[in-house]
Amino acid sequence: MTTSQTTTQNLLLLPGDGIGTEVMTEVENLIKWLERNSGAKFSIETDLVGGAAYDQHGVAITDAAMAKAEAADAIIFGAIGGPKWDGVPYEHRPEAGLLRLRKDLDLFANLRPAICYSALAEASSLKRELVEGLDILIVRELTGGTYFGEPKEIVTLENGQKRAVDTTVYTTFEIERIAAMAFELARKRGGKVHSAEKRNVMRTGVLWHEVVTATHAAKGEGIELHHILADNCAMQLIREPKQFDVIVCDNLFGDMLSDEAAMMTGSLGMLPSASLGMPDPETGKRKAMYEPVHGSAPDIAGQGKANPIATIGSFAMALRYSLGKAKDADLIDNAIAATLERGLRTADIMQPNMREVSTSEMGAAIIEEMDRLSA
Ligand code: NAD
Repeated sequence: MTTSQTTTQNLLLLPGDGIGTEVMTEVENLIKWLERNSGAKFSIETDLVGGAAYDQHGVAITDAAMAKAEAADAIIFGAIGGPKWDGVPYEHRPEAGLLRLRKDLDLFANLRPAICYSALAEASSLKRELVEGLDILIVRELTGGTYFGEPKEIVTLENGQKRAVDTTVYTTFEIERIAAMAFELARKRGGKVHSAEKRNVMRTGVLWHEVVTATHAAKGEGIELHHILADNCAMQLIREPKQFDVIVCDNLFGDMLSDEAAMMTGSLGMLPSASLGMPDPETGKRKAMYEPVHGSAPDIAGQGKANPIATIGSFAMALRYSLGKAKDADLIDNAIAATLERGLRTADIMQPNMREVSTSEMGAAIIEEMDRLSA
C-alpha cells in the first residue's frame, strides 16, 4: 500500500442548494465504497454554502466553513443559487460563497476536461468520428485578465455619450504559474500543450507568448508546445478537436473555449471541473476545489432527475489531482463509461432505446460497475 492509501485525507463537502445536495449524496456513497474496498481513509466535514448558508447564518459562507476549506485536502462543491434568493442583498447572494472560496483560497487555475464517452457520441453536435474518444483538458487562468483588470468602468463623457472600459492585465508571475501547471498536467496525459492567445493584436498576448515560451524552456522538458491564436483555436476545436491534449489560456479566452469544448460532449450534467491554487511551500499540497460545471437546476430540483456524473467526475478529479489516487480515479471514470455502455441514462442524456434512471439509480449503477471492474 502506498502512503496516500493509508493516510487519512480531509475532505470538505459543500453540497449547496437545489440539485447540489442530491448529486453530493452519490459522492458520499462513492466515498464509503472507497473506504470499504480500496483502503482509503477519509475524514469528512460537511458545511453549508450559498442560499442554504444564507438561510441559516445570513451569509453565503461562514468563517467557520472557510476555516474548514483552508484545512481540507480537497473541497467537493455541489451547486448554489435559485429563485428563492433572488431578493437577498447583493453581498450575501449565493454566488458570494463560491466567489469567496475562489478568492480566499487563491484558486488561480481552472481545469475543464472535455471527455466524450463513446456511448454518448451521438449526443454531440459534431459528427461521431470527430468526437468519439475525445479527451482534452482546458487550463484556464481564473483570477486575472479582463474580468479583474482595473480600470473597469462606464463613464459619461461631456457630450453625453458613455464610455465603457475593461482592462486586460497579466504579469509574468501569473502567466508563469498557469503555464507551469499546464506542462505539469500534460506530463501525466498526452504530453502536448497548445497555448492560446492573441499576440497579433494584444500586448497581453505578446507577454503571454514570451512567458509561456520561457516557462517551457525551464519547466517543460519533454512536452510538445504549440502556440495558437485563440480565434484559430476556437475554429480548430470544431474542425478537428482530437488534435488537442491540453490547452492553456487566459481568463477570457478560457471562458469561451471551455464552453465550446464542453458542448462536444453532450450535456451540462456530464461536465466536471477543478480549481487549483499554488502549492504550499512546505507540504507541496495545493488548495483545491472540485465542482460540476452546472448550477443548482431549480427546474428539476427535488425530483431525482439530476445527472450525478458531473459531480462524480469532479470527485474523480479530486482523487487524481489532490489525493494521489489516480487508480481509483481511473476506476470511477471506467465505471461511468461502462454504465453508459449498459444503456442507463438520466433524463438529460436520454436517447431512444435506452433506460431512463434516477439520480440515485445512476449513482448505484456506477458503484455496481466499480464492484465488477475491481473484482
Ligand atoms: P443550471 O446549470 O442550474 O441549469 C441549466 C439547465 O441544465 C436546466 O434546465 C437544468 O435542469 C439542466 N441541468 C443542469 N445540471 C443538470 C444535471 N446535473 N442533470 C440534469 N440536468 C441538469 O443553470 P441555470 O438554470 O442558469 O441556473 C440555476 C441556478 O444555478 C441560478 O441560481 C444560477 O445562478 C446558479 N448557478 C450556479 C452555478 C454554480 O453553483 N457553480 C453555476 C451556474 C449557475
